[in-house]
Amino acid sequence: MIAALMPTYNRADLAFEHGEGCWLYTADGRRFLDFGAGIATSSLGHGHKGLTDAIAKQAHKVMHVSNLYRVPQAEELAARLVAATFADSVFFCNSGAEANEGMVKMIRKAQHDNGHPERYRVICFEGAFHGRTLAMLAATGNAKYLKGFGPEVDGFDHVPFNNLNALRDAITPQTAGIIIEPVQGEGGIRPAQLQFLRDLRTTCDEFGIFLGMDEVQCGMGRTGKLFAHEWAGITPDVMSIAKGIAGGFPMGAILAKEHLAKSLYAGTHGTTFGGNPLACAAGNAVLDVVLADGFLADVDRRARKLWFALVDLAAEFPTVFEEARGAGLIVGLKCVVPNTEVQDAFMAEGLLSVGAGDNVVRLVPPLVVTDADIDTALEMMRHGAMRCLPQPAIMAAK
Ligand SMILES: *Cc1c(COP(=O)(O)O)cnc(C)c1O
Repeated sequence: MIAALMPTYNRADLAFEHGEGCWLYTADGRRFLDFGAGIATSSLGHGHKGLTDAIAKQAHKVMHVSNLYRVPQAEELAARLVAATFADSVFFCNSGAEANEGMVKMIRKAQHDNGHPERYRVICFEGAFHGRTLAMLAATGNAKYLKGFGPEVDGFDHVPFNNLNALRDAITPQTAGIIIEPVQGEGGIRPAQLQFLRDLRTTCDEFGIFLGMDEVQCGMGRTGKLFAHEWAGITPDVMSIAKGIAGGFPMGAILAKEHLAKSLYAGTHGTTFGGNPLACAAGNAVLDVVLADGFLADVDRRARKLWFALVDLAAEFPTVFEEARGAGLIVGLKCVVPNTEVQDAFMAEGLLSVGAGDNVVRLVPPLVVTDADIDTALEMMRHGAMRCLPQPAIMAAK
């Protein structure tokens, strides 16, 4: 008989009772170092006082009123995001897929309102992940996820990642815009080349199409800058964010320049839960930490420390790892042995990681991960890697 909880995930047989910082504890007293952060989402770790106090305080006052009324917490959060980014205006929703849907709607509507209703197609990249709604399945373009769900939603074209010529060749009179993850997450922790991002910006300007960034996973401080595209010194026209923005409270957002945002005027788009007082209290509490003086610079410092150690680890175990890849605190180990084997070995050592495409083990710890946590994780990874050595390598090492 089917489980009451629909079995859409292959879950590890672990249930956590509470957490503290980067550590999660089971009811029977085992503890795990969390380098998965609920898939790059628990940005402030577990049990963060500023975040939990903000949520509790707001929950006691009022959680939800709908967008039929002003929501001061949402106005504040939007103003802070606008002040900290390229954006002029923000729409709040509840998930990454929903943010991406809204981003595509905005791109299409702005082209329409500019007198180009024929421009509705969006170019996406091979290896992308944009979510599980019907349209975002088509944007993702992964045959494995699309299979069995009926005709693919029209309007998305795919080109190889980091290939400017292929991208330019794919632009047609029907192209409305481009959507890219500056660091592909689910696809296997593949960063876009910074020059490629700059070339996308000039190409979009040349053809009069919009540049959209999906920073659902790599954004909100994860790369050591508030948003990953900042490393390239360019700005998108529109950006989707979610995962880490409210530290584990479900929230998404679309950040846009005015020339796009003005197309989603009253009555054109909506959501019941989006930007409610509780979610925005959580979002503001996360921003309090991420925008605090020196926080992002220290994320960058700790990320570099992790990076160089991972490069060494991969070199030390060439029969287990092919390479370290990624940026900031969104890094991956491309494996030689099956990535699930490495994840199981890490878990046996007490370290939680997340799988990703292209046989990668993803490491996306909370942004508050300490130097000591990183040292502990590296020790666990070393021991985990030893568990994965094929027999001949063990013989050779003796
Ligand atoms: C997780 C993810 C999404 C989908 O977010 P959901 O909240 O699961 O809908 C979209 N884009 C990227 C880059 C993601 O990592």
